Amino acid sequence: MIEVKHLTKRYGSHTAVSDLSFTIEKGQIYGFLGPNGAGKSTTMNIMTGCLAATEGQVKIGGFDIFEEAEQAKKLIGYLPEQPPLYLDRTPREYLSFVARAKKIPEKKIPEELERVMAVTATLDVADRLIRNLSKGYKQRVGIAQAILGDPEVIILDEPTVGLDPRQIIEIRDLIRQLGKEHTVILSSHILSEVQAVCQTILIISKGRLVACDTPDNLERLFAGTNTVELVAEGTEEEIRRILADVTLGQVASLRDLGDGSCFIKLQSDQSKGNAVCRELFFAFSKAGKPILRMTTTRASLEDVFMELTNGEKEDGK
Ligand code: ADP
Ligand code: MG
Repeated sequence: MIEVKHLTKRYGSHTAVSDLSFTIEKGQIYGFLGPNGAGKSTTMNIMTGCLAATEGQVKIGGFDIFEEAEQAKKLIGYLPEQPPLYLDRTPREYLSFVARAKKIPEKKIPEELERVMAVTATLDVADRLIRNLSKGYKQRVGIAQAILGDPEVIILDEPTVGLDPRQIIEIRDLIRQLGKEHTVILSSHILSEVQAVCQTILIISKGRLVACDTPDNLERLFAGTNTVELVAEGTEEEIRRILADVTLGQVASLRDLGDGSCFIKLQSDQSKGNAVCRELFFAFSKAGKPILRMTTTRASLEDVFMELTNGEKEDGK
């Protein structure tokens, strides 16, 4: 549905997006995940034809966004990071203005307005001034203008930023709803956000694509390690001797708790799973040293994200 090839955007000497390539298939919800400044908005602005690229190509449904802009743009609805809402207009007035700009035939406009306001649950506020609406409703009106004309692809830049937890849940439900009939791409700098609604996550860091997969696969592929933590009876020396025979896990730390027991932390290959625990159990029981506690934790998607983006913070530029 969308093909992005070798996209690069430079602002002077600063490269905001660097050689980005990916494909978006029809009928899924995709998440652009990356810290602030990663290049998400720049990429979305280019994909929607709002910004020129320095290099590279974007095709929407086979149409080049730069060379066949009109056909390509017909296929996308876009909610930018700062939607251009007209505060002194009502949602109905604003949406009919956008509908005309999108060249929806005049006689179809009233019906189309009703449809988008019903989908986004904004009929109740259709005739109030936009400036008096809550942030949640403003965002719904923004989404309503994006889906006017029923485009195949809906692109939403940080759709839940600045909303309260309840509004976030409502917007997420709306996005899931839209995902049933459209291809949706949304961006966020919050992992839990994309994890909650997206089937595929594209992780962007410093203008580069560093991963693209399902949330589950990302966890599996990149979070290569299991951590096993245990407390067992014995002195540090006794425990070191027992652990010398354990082959499946690497000792990451060992600490004498001062009550005749030690705390031990091991790292193992994810694929070895329970085998490490089994090996530890037999090694300690053979030595006559009881294990008092044992837990395993799998590296989370959060860890993957931190690792891939190098714990990158907002670049402040
Ligand atoms: P994100 O949406 O992921 O937070 P952006 O795409 O907004 O990231 O920005 C990517 C990088 O490009 C940042 O370093 C930002 O400072 C820079 N940038 C964005 N817009 C401009 C601009 N108009 N002029 C110069 N630099 C810009
Ligand atoms: Mg942004």
